Amino acid sequence: MKRAIACLTIALFSAAMIFTPAVQAYSFVSTVPQSGGCPQPNSWNLSVSSPLDRQWSTSLPSLISPVILTVAAAGTSAQLDEIEQAISDSFSVWAGVSGTTFNAVAFPGLEAPLARVTSPNSCTNDAESNVDGLNTICFNQSSAAFTPGVLAFTRTFTANAPGASVGTSGPAAFAGQILDADTLFCNTGEVTFATPAALATSQAAGAYDLESLLTHELGHWMGLDHSALIRAMMFPFAPPPGQFLGSRPTTQAPDGPLSDDDRTGIRVLYPDPNDTLNIGAIRGQILPANPFALAALPAPSVGSSVTGMVGAQVVSVDADTGAIIAGVFSSGSCNASSPPTQFDGSYDLERLPVGHNYNLYAEPLVGIALPADFVVPADLCSQDVTPSCIAPAANTNFNVRTLPTAP
Ligand SMILES: [Zn+2]
Repeated sequence: MKRAIACLTIALFSAAMIFTPAVQAYSFVSTVPQSGGCPQPNSWNLSVSSPLDRQWSTSLPSLISPVILTVAAAGTSAQLDEIEQAISDSFSVWAGVSGTTFNAVAFPGLEAPLARVTSPNSCTNDAESNVDGLNTICFNQSSAAFTPGVLAFTRTFTANAPGASVGTSGPAAFAGQILDADTLFCNTGEVTFATPAALATSQAAGAYDLESLLTHELGHWMGLDHSALIRAMMFPFAPPPGQFLGSRPTTQAPDGPLSDDDRTGIRVLYPDPNDTLNIGAIRGQILPANPFALAALPAPSVGSSVTGMVGAQVVSVDADTGAIIAGVFSSGSCNASSPPTQFDGSYDLERLPVGHNYNLYAEPLVGIALPADFVVPADLCSQDVTPSCIAPAANTNFNVRTLPTAP
């Protein structure tokens, strides 16, 4: 089983805003099958008939006020309902994306009520012992992963072979299937969270928007890694206290807070075979002007080589509107008949809306989000197969050259 942890951290937003956001991309967490082969993006198996088995902790009254801030800093039944509504709304945001099978029709358990548990140990501090196939959202948690600035994190356990299972998950249908996802919110008394209703009150001053954080963490549940796009829901840093990202979901725009980058990412992970709009793709390679500038792979990598730029951000922009549609990391390619991954700088922008013209640009990961905020490209090599490759570090040692466009 492979474990992945992705954290949402506090950004020094006022300082960060003086920089131009440099890099923009959605990305996936991947798993290389235990038997070897090519990396598979992590995702849920949507063919299962049973819904996601999920619950959340309601040990709020025992919290040191005001760790969770609702209308008042206590856990009345109505306030717990309010928190649960925020959780449900955050699920619905992802289910509201068109052109995916990740929706309430294909996955009827998605918006079902959560089971509540009052035990404060529902999400144990011991990461390994909570591998139970039960997907939980817990507040007031202690964990070594809560280093300064970390507000919440999600850990997922993924099958590295068909048939693998944990707890009640049932056997995996494929390598890369997510078997268990748990989100933990920290218990430091210095950080408060507020539901959307509470955020509008003066009592919630200085509180982080619970729904923004939940939507981000649930993106990790689905298999998304971070995006370096500052407007993306999967950007690794939270909005400042009192603010939220995008718009609140509405009936007309249930996926309102997401960016096109987030939507594209979830469409690539869970494509709707009946979608006729988001079926465009742009593929290519990012190559250095001087191929001798590329560093060799660390030993003992076997069978892989570095012939292109890894970790460049390749961003597709609608040429007519200037809107950023999606971005990916340049990384490598893998031939199923002759793995492992070759780090040739390949990129693959999938599920772009057709009927548009696009401009592309590539940038190094040297902005607010840094290579350490992403799992790619490390997860393109196996953690279980020996011998295997060791992925090169993201290449940030290049300059962007803008080519003049034809009039
Ligand atoms: Zn995150």
